[in-house]
Amino acid sequence: MEQTALFYLGSRLNHSCESNSHYTGNRIPGKGCHVALTPIEEGALITTNYLGDDAMMSTPMRRWVLSSQKLFHCECTRCMRPDETRVVPCPGCHPRVSNGGSWTLPPDLDIEGARYISPSRAADEWYCEGCARTWNADAVFPGVGELSGMDMENRVERVVYNLNKELDANVETSYSQICELLQLAAGVLGMRHWATVKMLDIQTQFLIGTPGDNRLQLEENSQTMWAFCGTAHVPPSYLLTSFLCTPTVLASDGGDVKSEILTRALVCRAMLVSEDFQATDTSVLQRRFYVPLHVSIAAAHLTKAAEEAMSSGKTGEAVHLYHGALLLEPQNAQILSKWAAALREQGRLSEADSIAIHCEQISQLRVSCE
Ligand SMILES: [Zn+2]
Ligand SMILES: [Zn+2]
Repeated sequence: MEQTALFYLGSRLNHSCESNSHYTGNRIPGKGCHVALTPIEEGALITTNYLGDDAMMSTPMRRWVLSSQKLFHCECTRCMRPDETRVVPCPGCHPRVSNGGSWTLPPDLDIEGARYISPSRAADEWYCEGCARTWNADAVFPGVGELSGMDMENRVERVVYNLNKELDANVETSYSQICELLQLAAGVLGMRHWATVKMLDIQTQFLIGTPGDNRLQLEENSQTMWAFCGTAHVPPSYLLTSFLCTPTVLASDGGDVKSEILTRALVCRAMLVSEDFQATDTSVLQRRFYVPLHVSIAAAHLTKAAEEAMSSGKTGEAVHLYHGALLLEPQNAQILSKWAAALREQGRLSEADSIAIHCEQISQLRVSCE
């Protein structure tokens, strides 16, 4: 039976595109819970996320959804930062090529080696340190026919958004249609733009349920999605289904899963489980999400992976890994201080400061107990 509820206090929480709490209806039967996602300082505003998975979208798209559905213009901390979900290869360093009347990114562009740029906050401008030039949206996104580059980005974003809503509503879509749209997004927006990553997520969900050997494609998709979560500050739990299922599929043939992929999946699972079930017992993780039994999950595992990510300059990925480790060991002051350092490295100073305060409180608590 479907049930509806109106929450007297919960309905009054303000929105933030990077909220410090998460709503769940799974924890206590008959009650809605707002669970802290990060240490919250006394007196600080408690925020929630009205967008759900759509919070992975670009600032203009999030603001469009919020203003059309919730009737306000969002000015949260994330909306006021440069938009890390519209990161594209520089048009100067990687000139677009002609492709049957339209312009696209070079097909042989090495994703890892490409020079990516993100738009400034005030003006919609992308600056490249490589060629020391500033580009506007019309130069960054190649136009097609009458459509300018900016129109083209907006059109692809809306099509991806609508397709995702249709899939949520169980509207039938063919796999070839998904591949076509993915190809379009990748060619126009590149592999670090949220709309392309959303299409990879959709493709992954299709492949997970499709027989045949899709392992190579799944592994590739998973790596690109994980890299996006790192650079765009988007929690991997927004791409949950893909991350939850991919390693299980990869391992199902008795093959070894690369520990990197497993680590990512464990972070996502730990995030989901701790948010919704508050389980720190790893046997719960194994039972609930069919983690291969030979794998034991420990905060130390995630911390080690985070340290490796830090030393190779992937601070965004390190932030997610430390967060996952903390969800398994919430009172570990050592992991907390490393998480704060990673956030500081990323320029997220106020979050880092509030974690440092929390960390000090835990250390003091420990001293007074001894
Ligand atoms: Zn916002
Ligand atoms: Zn450049």
